[in-house]
Amino acid sequence: MNHSKLSVKEFLEKSKTGEIDLKGFFEKLYEKIQELNRKYNFFITISDFRDERTENGKIKGLPVSVKDNICVKGMRCTAGSRILETYVPVFDATVIKRIRNEGGIITGKTNQDEFGFGTFSTNSGFDVPKNPLDPERTCGGSSGGAAGLTAALNYPHIALGQSTGGSISCPASFCGVVGLTPTYGLVSRYGLIDYANSLDKIGPIGKSVEDVSILLSVISGKDKKDATCAGEKKDYFANLSSEAKGMRIGVPKEYFGEGVDERISETVWNGIKKLESIGVEYEEIELPSTKYALPAYYIIATAEASTNLAKFCGMRYGAEEKIEGSFDEYFSKVRTKYFGEEAKRRILLGTYARMAGYRDKYYLKALQVRTVVIQEFKKAFKKYDALIAPTMPVIAPKFKEIEKMNPLDVYMMDILTVAPNLAGIPMLSVPCGKIKGMPAVMHILGYHFDEQKILNIGLVFEKEVKT
Ligand code: GLN
Repeated sequence: MNHSKLSVKEFLEKSKTGEIDLKGFFEKLYEKIQELNRKYNFFITISDFRDERTENGKIKGLPVSVKDNICVKGMRCTAGSRILETYVPVFDATVIKRIRNEGGIITGKTNQDEFGFGTFSTNSGFDVPKNPLDPERTCGGSSGGAAGLTAALNYPHIALGQSTGGSISCPASFCGVVGLTPTYGLVSRYGLIDYANSLDKIGPIGKSVEDVSILLSVISGKDKKDATCAGEKKDYFANLSSEAKGMRIGVPKEYFGEGVDERISETVWNGIKKLESIGVEYEEIELPSTKYALPAYYIIATAEASTNLAKFCGMRYGAEEKIEGSFDEYFSKVRTKYFGEEAKRRILLGTYARMAGYRDKYYLKALQVRTVVIQEFKKAFKKYDALIAPTMPVIAPKFKEIEKMNPLDVYMMDILTVAPNLAGIPMLSVPCGKIKGMPAVMHILGYHFDEQKILNIGLVFEKEVKT
């Protein structure tokens, strides 16, 4: 059987009826993953998943790769950082437990920017992942390995990514695959190595809207171990529908403005027009606080990150050095040696923003901006079922272009993703065209816990009006 043609749904059906030789399938998949990894560095750690069996001896089902900041029992978990190079968790994150309960197996831990700090995965402490559509270009970040693998691997497979300010949407966009960032709180964060707790979301990256709905149905829903997890468990896959007639879409003008490649704007507009041709109504709207979202995001995210990183002190997890000198000296020695440049920059930025004297001026101001951003989205969703915009302002840049960027240029790449992430609303990236062979992707934003609506719009687009 040619596995490469199977969707996840077909794979699940056929593996239940015994039509697939699972042992042979997993052998081939394992080889393929090794081969791809030698070329593209999608994984930090590959697991030997070839012969995982259930209690009654049956070979297990769907292969899922996991971003390396989510804990999997017994599997090294680095979060892309050398400081965690030797950390092996003794427990499964809630999402992993749920995947295992459904018979899923974990193929390995995918590459990422160190602790999620970045947009191109070039801040990984390990070999940088390359875009399978053009290896001179980035996969995006920070879930770069997850999206690159999804684009390159012609086997039924889903990737688990994670976003703080765009890390699912961005790599999905640069690699031309589907990425779903769920509402903040719909998916448990228990077992996630935090970047910024008030922003972090775990979500699926797959080849199709169907694939991401399948994984979302498995991982979502309340968890006693995460008090911020409030969402109800639903079967998004069973409820997928391509009925979009009469839906109302808002198109925020600010998302097509300065800094956004005109060819991307045009491609996304073509997509919106196609939706219109099948009965979706649209209107241009304004979200004036958009321009304040980027500075607010970088203050909030770095403030939270700088406190989260305090626990990596060379004593409890990961890297250790010979213990000598005072605690401060030891702590500084380990962190100087093992943290990358961007992690150090974020610690400095975040600590500064939280310092007495600057707190009101920066951190509290940023929180106020966040409230305004949320209110603007709330108002828009009173009138519209979803908003549509481009996901990233550019196509995947080449590594040699990235080398010329300063940190601020890199932060600017997040102008379209940070506001919805600050608001904690769900967002779906769906490819809508190509520019010079590289994908341009449309971002469908929904109201809190309205995942089903944006998945349905994504499905319509994918099935009926794909360019
Ligand atoms: N690029 C953004 C940042 O560096 C978002 C990354 C993320 O979502 N982890 O913070």
